[in-house]
Amino acid sequence: MTFRELGLSEKVLQAVEASGYTKPTPIQAKAIPEALAGRDVLGIAQTGTGKTAAFTLPMLSRLEQGRARARMPRTLILEPTRELAAQVEESFGRYGVNHKLNVALLIGGVSFGDQEAKIMRGADVLIATPGRLLDFAERGKLLLTGIEILVIDEADRMLDMGFIPDIERICKLVPFTRQTLFFSATMPAEIVRLTEAFLHNPVRIEVAPPASTSTTIAQALVASLPGPAKRETLRRLIGAADNFKNAIIFCNRKRDVAILHKSLQKHGFRAGALHGDMDQRARMASLEAFKNGDVDLIVCSDVAARGLDIPDVSHVFNFDVPVHAEDYVHRIGRTGRAGKQGIAISIVTRADQKHLAEIEKLIGRAIGWQNGAALDSLSADDEAALESHAPRQREHRGQRRSEAGGRQHAPRERGQRDHGAREQHGKRPHDAPQAPKSNGHTTKPERGHRPERGQFRDHDDRPVVGMGDHTPSFLLRPVKLKPRVVEEAE
Ligand code: AMP
Repeated sequence: MTFRELGLSEKVLQAVEASGYTKPTPIQAKAIPEALAGRDVLGIAQTGTGKTAAFTLPMLSRLEQGRARARMPRTLILEPTRELAAQVEESFGRYGVNHKLNVALLIGGVSFGDQEAKIMRGADVLIATPGRLLDFAERGKLLLTGIEILVIDEADRMLDMGFIPDIERICKLVPFTRQTLFFSATMPAEIVRLTEAFLHNPVRIEVAPPASTSTTIAQALVASLPGPAKRETLRRLIGAADNFKNAIIFCNRKRDVAILHKSLQKHGFRAGALHGDMDQRARMASLEAFKNGDVDLIVCSDVAARGLDIPDVSHVFNFDVPVHAEDYVHRIGRTGRAGKQGIAISIVTRADQKHLAEIEKLIGRAIGWQNGAALDSLSADDEAALESHAPRQREHRGQRRSEAGGRQHAPRERGQRDHGAREQHGKRPHDAPQAPKSNGHTTKPERGHRPERGQFRDHDDRPVVGMGDHTPSFLLRPVKLKPRVVEEAE
């Protein structure tokens, strides 16, 4: 099958050729002819399958006829996150080089003014996150009555993010006769209900079972104690990683993304972060720094990282085992893309056993423990030590600071255990966790270099008393003194 056989316009075919694609992916081969014929499409496909081009290319062909009017976009693409929306905009730029189309992006965290100007000019393609779109529509700055094609992308993620009521409202604002292209990696009951309500006799295209994981990804589990020990396990894993180029590290909670990010930076790693509480500019900057190699680690939450297309990620670390089994598939799919080899390692604590079992059920196989060291290799002593770890931790940190010259981690001490190293099952019984390989990608302190006082201390492991080192800004505000008091002082 070639792109030419799909019925795309000449302009689109030239852009596809310029992109270097020689063959449509399965979702493209199946969806493009149906979309060009004006049918509704229900595509069950995850990112990495080429689904963005599966809706972008036929849209471009169809948009060659007709013109956009002020405030009335002709097509609408809904994305769950700003990053995904920006990524789709990039695709329109790439595949639409031969078209003179106005593409507008409506996402949160960006000024209303510029977005409004673009919409006023008349948008052929409007790419939006649901909240900002409804904001505009409700203020009367946008009319959705001219929409010819509606794309709902990553519907299951919209569900996770609580966007389904918004989607329902938007579906009611667009004309009944529009064409709908709907994509979801999984089909939970609420998504099925949505498709039944808003798609008209769709052609259902399923390209890969949602549970499938790529054969180009080597997966492994590593047992660890929770809390600070887990961060230590992660640092050891990064240091010992084979063929390390860069890594995406997933946490389950936004708060933990921030904590881990800070901790990694304190330990001398070049790390960025990506989570939903960061403003748009910071998110884009983080992503850019990771893509161009300024940082080689990026700590992410699921929502922020979902669907991101970052080619050439060598490692994925699940710092937390995901609560939803499907997220595991999405997370590890960030590596091993485009036929390259990838490594996905999940750090597992006792509390994660239930979720791990669900993941293994979903992907249909057991994931191996690195070096055969499963959770039961963590002894009862370790767990007891953890229970009463607070005072020992302080002792450990003090000691580490004095020993830290030239190393990222001190040798293990009494009462402090590196459970990651235990997984090596005595193969490397005495080695301290390895610093990241000096492959030019990950920074590590130089040998013999004595760090500044406290430089490698794990500050976030320390119980914070009061406000810690932080002085709230209200305490720094100048105090207005009454004139009488000033006179007295003088
Ligand atoms: P997506 O599933 O849309 O996130 O696409 C995943 C990746 O596949 C993107 O980097 C696309 O540039 C790439 N891609 C899309 N279509 C093709 C194709 N026909 N041949 C090769 N790569 C493609």
